[in-house]
Amino acid sequence: MIPLADIVRSPIPLASNRVWRIYRGGAMIGLLHGEAEGKDSEFPEDWVGSTVQARNPGSHYTPGEGLALVACGPGDPVTLKKVIETHPEEMLGPSHVREYGTNAALLVKILDAAVRLMIHAHPSKAFAGEHLGSCFGKTEAWFVLDTRPDVDDPCVLIAFREEVSRARYRAMLDAQDVPSMIDVMHRVPVKAGDVVYVRAGLPHAIGGGVFMVELQEPTDFSIMLERSAPNYHFSPGESFLGLEQSLVLSVIDHRVYSMEDVRRELLIRPRVIRSEGESAESELLGYDTTECFAGRSLDVRGSLTGDTEGRYFLLIVLRGEGVMVHQGGRTPLRRGMQLFVPAAVGGHEFRSRDGMTMFKSLPAQVRGDKK
Ligand SMILES: [Zn+2]
Repeated sequence: MIPLADIVRSPIPLASNRVWRIYRGGAMIGLLHGEAEGKDSEFPEDWVGSTVQARNPGSHYTPGEGLALVACGPGDPVTLKKVIETHPEEMLGPSHVREYGTNAALLVKILDAAVRLMIHAHPSKAFAGEHLGSCFGKTEAWFVLDTRPDVDDPCVLIAFREEVSRARYRAMLDAQDVPSMIDVMHRVPVKAGDVVYVRAGLPHAIGGGVFMVELQEPTDFSIMLERSAPNYHFSPGESFLGLEQSLVLSVIDHRVYSMEDVRRELLIRPRVIRSEGESAESELLGYDTTECFAGRSLDVRGSLTGDTEGRYFLLIVLRGEGVMVHQGGRTPLRRGMQLFVPAAVGGHEFRSRDGMTMFKSLPAQVRGDKK
């Protein structure tokens, strides 16, 4: 058994952590992880470094599902959540712990939708605090990695494009008039590299054939506006988080977005924030958009130095291979690997001769970071 105190000083490799969902997909995740042929299944999401329990409906609820595991030598693996709770300051960093306690304040998913997902929305922090006993809601963001070649027009649905009164929307929901629900939303074409910011409260749905990294606040609260999923039919109680319908629907953002509003506020443009030789770190979505999380891209050719700056991050290797050199030694990296990098790792260097691209996820902003 490797003592936990040693584990927390080096990057922690994480096994793939597939989660059952109400829709099919996942073939692209299999390919990312090196399977010769990706297969779709009812496990279309991989929850990377998750400390969140999946809230699947009805008999599909499985205790422990969603929680990432860490191998500590022989014996049963322990949950990452347990490692964090045992060594919070080394894992999350002192400033994070002061602000969020032992909550990792982030949920990262790799998601591959074979079909269009159901239209849904998520509660805000304020609503979750008042009615769901949680200091986190579920603002999220989508970072499109790829789209399926057999889908001609990959897209997402987001926000109302026309005036929809609460009474009219309620009538659509009661009748489950899905064509009308789709018709009042923006349909936004997406391609690899696009970044979409999904504020809590906005109605949204990912289209079929879209493969992405998704960053979210660390909860699994969904308000299912469309109740018939391919793998499940939600009762009204299940679709409204067990709360009264009109109360839950009060979180839906009925603001009318013009296409220009969508482009300006919800489609985020990446920018390079530093470069070293042929290597660069780009901000895909930063704390200037939301305090809830940040997503970056690390493109390494040769060398790229870095520092945890007293905070943890999660890494997903999307392309190529290389090595991460740190105080605890060297961690080889290759496409498909996912790692939790504890705050205690500190200074480090990525090296890759032929080029390597990684997705870096940072948790909710801490007060000291705020400008
Ligand atoms: Zn969502």
